Amino acid sequence: MATMADPNANKWYAKGLRFECTGCGDCCTGPPGYVHFNDDEAQAMAKVVGLTVDKFRKAYARKTEFGWSLREHKNAHGFDCVFLDRITEPGKALCKVYEHRPVQCQTFPWWPEILSSEKAWKATARECEGIGRGDFVPIEHISIERDRTPK
Ligand code: SF4
Repeated sequence: MATMADPNANKWYAKGLRFECTGCGDCCTGPPGYVHFNDDEAQAMAKVVGLTVDKFRKAYARKTEFGWSLREHKNAHGFDCVFLDRITEPGKALCKVYEHRPVQCQTFPWWPEILSSEKAWKATARECEGIGRGDFVPIEHISIERDRTPK
């Protein structure tokens, strides 16, 4: 009986990768960027801040050529995501909508472009201190997160 070849078997990260988020918040700041979200994600975040979706978009988001993205605030760290909270716990950078953050945030650092090569992974490690920490994350988990990253 023929068996299906495992599409992940030949990936450079087939043996898994070490990653453990420290909550430093560095992936939520830095140079200007995008945190895109869809209508369902807008609804979930609007509920957290107690606004209608329309009011939520006006207060926390901006329109880009690709859709809606969260606003950013420029400060000494760079361009912080509008939901990055550096006040509540001194020395920490927390996400105010963590449980309902967009899928783009949930799947970091397992984005296809970061996994495209070991070089890209190592380059991201310079920005994310969680890369290379903790236990190995198995490829089964990595590939699920990679494949649910918004295109
Ligand atoms: S930069 Fe990395 S370690 Fe820091 S909060 Fe983001 S994912 Fe976690």
